[in-house]
Amino acid sequence: MKTLITSATSHNRLLGRDSDEYLVLNIAIEDGKVSQISEAEIEGAFDQVIDASGLFLSPGLVDPQVHFREPGMEYKEDIESGSKAAVKGGFTTVISMPNTSPTADNPDTVRFMAQRSKDVGICKVLPTGSLSHSLAGQTLTDFAALKEAGAVAITDDGKGVQKDEIFKEAMVKAKAVNLAILDHSEDESLSDGGAIHAGKVAAQFGIKGIKPESESVHVERGCQMSQETGAHYHVLHVSTKASIDAVRAAKAKNINVTVEVSPHHLLLCDEDIKVKDDNTLDANWKMNPPLRSKADKLACQEALLDGTIDAIATDHAPHSPDEKAQHIEAAPFGIIGLETAFPLIYTHFVKTEKLTLSRCIDLMSKQAGGLFNIDCGRIQVGADADLCLFDLESPFEVSPEFFASKSKNSPFIGQTLYGQTRYTLMNGNVVFANKP
Ligand SMILES: [Zn+2]
Repeated sequence: MKTLITSATSHNRLLGRDSDEYLVLNIAIEDGKVSQISEAEIEGAFDQVIDASGLFLSPGLVDPQVHFREPGMEYKEDIESGSKAAVKGGFTTVISMPNTSPTADNPDTVRFMAQRSKDVGICKVLPTGSLSHSLAGQTLTDFAALKEAGAVAITDDGKGVQKDEIFKEAMVKAKAVNLAILDHSEDESLSDGGAIHAGKVAAQFGIKGIKPESESVHVERGCQMSQETGAHYHVLHVSTKASIDAVRAAKAKNINVTVEVSPHHLLLCDEDIKVKDDNTLDANWKMNPPLRSKADKLACQEALLDGTIDAIATDHAPHSPDEKAQHIEAAPFGIIGLETAFPLIYTHFVKTEKLTLSRCIDLMSKQAGGLFNIDCGRIQVGADADLCLFDLESPFEVSPEFFASKSKNSPFIGQTLYGQTRYTLMNGNVVFANKP
């Protein structure tokens, strides 16, 4: 199969060149790899030609944190529907979390997820293995066996690891097998069964709050243990100023710490939670960690712009409409994010000239993949043809019908954004197309 992409706009940095100029180029793809890149016309016979005039060519995006719910909760999402949501958002690689049913705490479940992703063949879904059996935080899993089965990192995401000695032992063992520990940082003695941020909205609506320290004390612990063990400690979905301060201080000491932030923590705070007609709060604004204070949101933005943040992650967490229609204290945590992530960051940070386009894409591809030692994020000859063509000019409204995910639990429905995907190619195959 030979494919030609013609007249795409791109940026020199995304081709690995030391220049901030945009350029218009043609790309030939053969056997799943980029075979030629040229500003001049490319001659030859092709099975497929994509006219990309007016579209922006990006390396396929990488999401460090998604929940695809298979095995066990396929009514919310499965690897196929999650993959469709991913490529609709321009993602060609995603890292899936182990809180499935059964938990990915054993090689068979990890192997199943890796194989299922290959069989579906839409997006590269790379599984993680859990840190403890059943995410119970009591006994460690066999990290070497999980890695052998295909796990690209170790995490108990969805739950914080409460016991310090278990977490420390996990760091030592993860370093020995050269995998990162991804930390859902939550001290449960401080989050204490809360539903939203412990701030003025929680007080106003009489809802039990999650203290911000529940996150930062675990981030401080992780930074300290990374210094002691040398293990790669990665903070998932950071949400508070105190956590960011801890990461910034650790990075200044060259500790092996990285951190990601989600679009919703960059763009929303607790005061934005929608109040429904019956004067209760809408659970589509409920996730863990919760939307924090405005000061925390601004601290996340500052960390994004000053380079403290290593990657953007969606924490794509699908739930059914019935689950999310419950009272906010009863509804499950989590929102979907794959289809809206790039448009949100593009519209609110790039279009407003706070962040350059190439930097935005690096945070969502090269740097995100780098957390897992995946070499990606550059358009180059010989690399896998994982590519995306974005329409940066046409506004669109996020509607429930917009989503390819099985679930629609997004607080961004109704927003007008820029940056929708027109084509996604994975290993040279067109896995998503939406021609105007
Ligand atoms: Zn989490």
